[in-house]
Amino acid sequence: MEIVNPGLSGDYHMHSLQYSDGLPTIDEIVQYAGRLGLEEIAITDHSQAALDRSGLTKKAHRSIVQRWENVHNDVKVIFGVEGDLLDEEGNICEDIAGHTSDFLILSLHHQVYQGNFSKVTEAYLKAMEKYGQKIRFLGHPHIQKGTEHLDMAALVEAANHHDIPLEFNGRYFRQGGNADNLQIMLQKADRIYVNSDAHTLSELRDHRRACFNFLKQESYLS
Ligand SMILES: [Zn+2]
Ligand SMILES: [Zn+2]
Repeated sequence: MEIVNPGLSGDYHMHSLQYSDGLPTIDEIVQYAGRLGLEEIAITDHSQAALDRSGLTKKAHRSIVQRWENVHNDVKVIFGVEGDLLDEEGNICEDIAGHTSDFLILSLHHQVYQGNFSKVTEAYLKAMEKYGQKIRFLGHPHIQKGTEHLDMAALVEAANHHDIPLEFNGRYFRQGGNADNLQIMLQKADRIYVNSDAHTLSELRDHRRACFNFLKQESYLS
C-alpha cells in the first residue's frame, strides 16, 4: 500500500464556509494550512446535490474562485468538488452551482444517494466505469451509514483496477466509521490518500495526525 500524500505533502479533502458546511473561510483555511506546514491543499466543498439535500444555499458565487489568489503563503491551493454518488447507475453530481472541477472526489452520503442501498457496490463500480480517472479518489469508503451492504473487498479491487486511490478519512476514522471496512481497505488498496475532511481548523490540525498514528500503531507504516 502506497500513501499518495505522506506527512505534510498535502491534505486533499476539506470544507469551507463560502461553498458548503465548513466553519472557516477559504482564506482562514489557507493561512492555517501554511502555519501547519502543508505544501498543498484541496478545498473540496460538497456537490450541489448535497447542498440541496441539506438546505444549504450559499451566497457566494463559485466562479469567484477563478479570481482568488493566495496572498498569505506558498501553500498550493486546488478548488475541488466532493461529488456525490447519486444512484445505482453510477451517476455522480460533480458540480457546485454548475461549476465543476478537475479535482473530483467520489463520495457516498446516505442522505444524498437515491439508489437502492443493497446495490451500492454496483453503483460505485458503474461510477468508476463511467468516470474513470476523472475521480481522483473514493472519499471515506469506510463510512458507516449507507454502506451496510457494501462489498468492500470488491470495491477496493475495482478501484485498484481503475488505478483510483481510496481515502483514509480522518473525520470518519474518529467518528462514524466502519472499522472492519477500514482494515479491509488498508490491507488491499494499492494507493491511499490520508485526508482530514476538516470542517474546522482544529480538524485540519488533528484528523490526519490521528490517521498516521493509527497506521504506525497497526504497522502499516514503518
Ligand atoms: Zn461536510
Ligand atoms: Zn463526505
